[in-house]
Amino acid sequence: MLNKLITLPFTLEIEEQRQLQKATFEENIARGKLFAKITIGIEGTLATADIIGSLSKAHASFHFSFYFAMYLFLILLNICVLWGGARYDRRKEHSKHNMRTYETAFFLYAIFFMVWGSVVTLVDQRLYGQLMAFVVNVMSISVIFYFNNRRVLFLYCISTFTLFIGLPFFQHSSEVLIGHYVNLTIFLFFSWVASRILYVTYCSNFYSRILLKQSNQRLEDEIKANLSVHEELELANEELQKISLVDALTEIPNRRAFDQRVQALLSASDSARSVISIIMLDIDFFKLFNDNYGHAEGDDVITKIAQTIHAATRSSLDIAARMGGEEFVFAAFNTNEQEAIQLGESIRCRIQELRLIHEYSTISPYVTVSLGTATGPVSDPEQFAELMKMADEALYSAKANGRNSLFSMNRPKSRPQ
Ligand code: GH3
Ligand code: MG
Ligand code: MG
Repeated sequence: MLNKLITLPFTLEIEEQRQLQKATFEENIARGKLFAKITIGIEGTLATADIIGSLSKAHASFHFSFYFAMYLFLILLNICVLWGGARYDRRKEHSKHNMRTYETAFFLYAIFFMVWGSVVTLVDQRLYGQLMAFVVNVMSISVIFYFNNRRVLFLYCISTFTLFIGLPFFQHSSEVLIGHYVNLTIFLFFSWVASRILYVTYCSNFYSRILLKQSNQRLEDEIKANLSVHEELELANEELQKISLVDALTEIPNRRAFDQRVQALLSASDSARSVISIIMLDIDFFKLFNDNYGHAEGDDVITKIAQTIHAATRSSLDIAARMGGEEFVFAAFNTNEQEAIQLGESIRCRIQELRLIHEYSTISPYVTVSLGTATGPVSDPEQFAELMKMADEALYSAKANGRNSLFSMNRPKSRPQ
């Protein structure tokens, strides 16, 4: 139990110790200034009463010169505290050395204050035989100010030593003397306990505040880190989303992007049946190209053709995409058969005009494509899939018809029952 009063229940780092010391001292200064004002008031009243008492010779036992000098001394001491406190507050920053000087000065004040109580109590023995001045001063220092154990014990020792040594010279009644010693010992013990409880509680509160600040800081850092990870993730997601919709080789939309856009356009056109044309494209004799010119050259051709097809899109209602391999698809919303044939033909011609040499093609000295188109009203994905299948069949026919050509199919306006 006593151990808890002697050692603090936690350990502080050097910087934290410095902060605690500074906070304790500043609390002492603030309390000291208020306490000094009260003391000056009390001592001023007592000094006045002393003067009046002496002048009127109200009581022969008044020791005018001694008590008056003691009151004045205490008033001066407390004026020093007020002056020093104001000086301390005026400066915002204090060096280590500066702090130590102020602390020492304040500790000296406490010593004088305690010893003052002992001396007055000794003289009081001649007059009243009581211990009031000593008790009040020890109590005040113990419960109003925060001093560590070493300093508290030092204050107790110096004031008690003065009193205990002096008592036999001022108090001649041995019964009273023994009574004083016993009472003072008990009183000192309880004062020390009170002082320690207050000091340990103050330090524990300070330590809790440090822990709270640290955990707040940690939380803040974690939140910041999480936010930046979140932002990075969002960016990465956006990037991923883009990558997942773009064909890596040709950089035009891939099959997934095509399906998504078609889905979006189909649902945007509500129930209104829009006429859609689909053009399927396939490079002719591409296996021969690849086998003879190499895969890298093949890739180059696929890219050029993909970009030509993509460049043919007229508005956001046209979607061009690479289906895979050397096959492409072009969906043209609100486009009839005639327009689809024109569009397909223009794409075929533009590809031929690229003049990509293909010596192994049996139909042209250049790379050519075959196209199959299918046109019809579409109001749901199922009908769209049907149209895709028809375009595929049309492409097959274009191939069968000798390649480098376009074959068109028409989807009936109403489905056969
Ligand atoms: P057809 O005129 O009937 O379309 O004949 P084809 O040779 O073009 O058709 P086939 O389907 O037999 O061959 C397609 C070739 O396309 C096979 C493969 O070597 C090539 N190919 C598919 N994907 C790629 C690719 O990403 N890069 C390259 N360089 N070649 C590819
Ligand atoms: Mg093919
Ligand atoms: Mg082919």
